[in-house]
Amino acid sequence: MASAPGETSTTRPARPKQRRGEGQWALGYREPLNANEQSKKDDHPLNVRARIENVYARRGFDSIDPGDLRGRFRWYGLYTQRKPGIDGGRTATLAPEELDDEFFMMRVRIDGGALTTEQLAVIGEVSQTYARDTADITDRQNVQYHWVRIEDVPAMWQELESAGLTTMTACGDSPRVILGSPVAGIAEDEIIDGAPAIDEIKRRYLGKPEYANLPRKFKTAVSGLQDVAHEIHDVAFIGVRHPEHGPGFDVWVGGGLSTNPMIGQRLGAWVPRDEVPEVWEGVVSVFRDYGYRRLRSRARMKFLVKDWGAAKFREVLETEYLGRRLVDGPAPEVPEQRRDHIGVHRQKDGLCYVGAAPTAGRVSGSTLIAVAKAAERAGSSRVRLTPQQKILVLDVPESELAGLRAELAEIGLPTEPSPWRRGIMACTGIEFCKLAIVETKARARDLVAELERRLADLQSEVDNPVSVHLNGCPNSCARIQTADIGFKGQIVTDADGNQVEGFQVHLGGGLGLDAGFGRKVRGHKVTGDELAGYVERVVRNYLTQREPGERFPQ
Ligand code: SF4
Repeated sequence: MASAPGETSTTRPARPKQRRGEGQWALGYREPLNANEQSKKDDHPLNVRARIENVYARRGFDSIDPGDLRGRFRWYGLYTQRKPGIDGGRTATLAPEELDDEFFMMRVRIDGGALTTEQLAVIGEVSQTYARDTADITDRQNVQYHWVRIEDVPAMWQELESAGLTTMTACGDSPRVILGSPVAGIAEDEIIDGAPAIDEIKRRYLGKPEYANLPRKFKTAVSGLQDVAHEIHDVAFIGVRHPEHGPGFDVWVGGGLSTNPMIGQRLGAWVPRDEVPEVWEGVVSVFRDYGYRRLRSRARMKFLVKDWGAAKFREVLETEYLGRRLVDGPAPEVPEQRRDHIGVHRQKDGLCYVGAAPTAGRVSGSTLIAVAKAAERAGSSRVRLTPQQKILVLDVPESELAGLRAELAEIGLPTEPSPWRRGIMACTGIEFCKLAIVETKARARDLVAELERRLADLQSEVDNPVSVHLNGCPNSCARIQTADIGFKGQIVTDADGNQVEGFQVHLGGGLGLDAGFGRKVRGHKVTGDELAGYVERVVRNYLTQREPGERFPQ
C-alpha cells in the first residue's frame, strides 16, 4: 500500500543528520585540517621574527622559506607586493609565486590611530629611507609602506620600535590593530574615552602567543563615540551611559564584511572601562577555541556568532571564560549625523582639532614629516589617523589655526576639501595587491578631480558628503558595502565587447542610523572609464529629486 502524504513508507527511524566538525579546538579538533592551520601548528608564526633578523635579512629574498614568505611573515605586517605588469584578468589564474614580487608591503599598526608628532616624523623618515617615500593611511588607521626589501626590515623595526611603534600582528590570523575614535579624550560629546582601554589591551595581550593563533583575523574597535564602523568588527566596545552605573561600553560581536557581510550583534551587556581588556580577552578566547578552523571561508568569528546567536555567545563567554555574569545594559543612541572629523572643531579643553583630507589615504613619507613639523609649529604634539583615511592635528590654539590650515593645504591636505574628496575611500588595488583585479588609488584620485569639475554647480547642495568607496576585488578592504556608492573591482565587458577593468555597483549602504549593506544593483556594472559619468548621474538624480531631509537612498 502506498503511504499517505507525510507518512514514511519504512519503519526505520530517520537518522539524525551528522554535522561535520568545523575544526573547533574546544570540541577536540586539535589536528590541523588545512595547510594554514598546519603551518601555524608546525611553528608559531611569531617565531618568524628571529629568522627574518638572523637569516633572511642577511641572505636575501631567495633564502626565504615559502611557508614563512606567504604565511608567517604576515604576523609582522609583511606581505609580498604584486609583481608589476600583471593585469587583473590574470590574478586568479596564476600561482601565488608567480604574483610575488621580491619587495614587501609593511603595515605599521597604529592602535586608535594615535601618534605623537615625533612618531609621525619617524614613520615618514623610515619611509624616505627604506620605502621609496611611500605611505598610505589605511581605513584601519594603519600606515602601509611599499617597496620594502627584506634586507632592510630589521633596521626598520629598530627605528620604528625606538619610537614606540610596531608591526606585530598587523596582519595574520591574530588580533589586528584596534580601531579607536580619532577624537578620543578630546571630543566635547564623547560618552567615555576609550583610549585607556585600547592601551591596556595592547599592554596585556599584544604579542602573546596564546592570542596570536586564531582561526582567522580578529578586528577590534573601542570608541566612546560611533565613529569607528563598530557594526562590522569581530568585537566592538561602544560608549553608552548606563542609567545606574554611568558611562561604560556596549559590547558587539560578529560583524564583518568581505564576501559574506554581516552586521555585528549586541550582547546586551554593559562593561565599565577597566573591565574592557578582560572581556576582550574572553571574546578572543571564545573565538580561538570555538572558531571554525576547517575552512578559511568560514573561519571569521561572524560565522560562529551567526550560528550561535548573541545569547549563546554571551552565555559561553560568561560561564566558560569570565566566570561571572556581565551587567545588562542599554543600546547606545544612534547619532543623526555621520562624523568624519574634517575641518576645524572645538575640543572640550577649548583648543581645536583640525581634520585634513588626503585623497583615499595616499600620502608620502615626506608629507607625513611636513605634517609633523606644521603641527609642532602650531603648538601641537599629537596627530590621529582616521578610519576614513584622513589625518587630524589635535590641540591647536585658535590663534594658530589659519597658519596650520594654510600649511596643510600647501602640502596637499586641504581642511575644506570638496565633498567628493571628503567622501572617497580606496583600497590598495592592483598597484601592489596580489588579490586585486583593478586599479583603485589612481582611479580614486582621477575620480575626485573629475567629480569636482562635473559637479561644481551642485557642490553647495551636498550637506552630507556622498561616500564613494573603491575596492580592487571582492574582499572589501575599502568597506564598499557600507558606502552610499560602492564599487567592487572586476573585469567587465565594455560597449565594444572588450574585457576591461570595471566595477560592480553597490548602492545605498551605510552605518549608524542607516546601518545596512548597499544593494548590489543587478546589471549595474561600469567600466573604469565610465566611473565619473555614473557617479555624476546618480548624484544629480539624488540631489535634484530628494525630499527635504531625505538621506542617500537605500
Ligand atoms: Fe587587495 Fe582586494 Fe583588499 Fe583591495 S579589497 S586591498 S584588491 S584584497
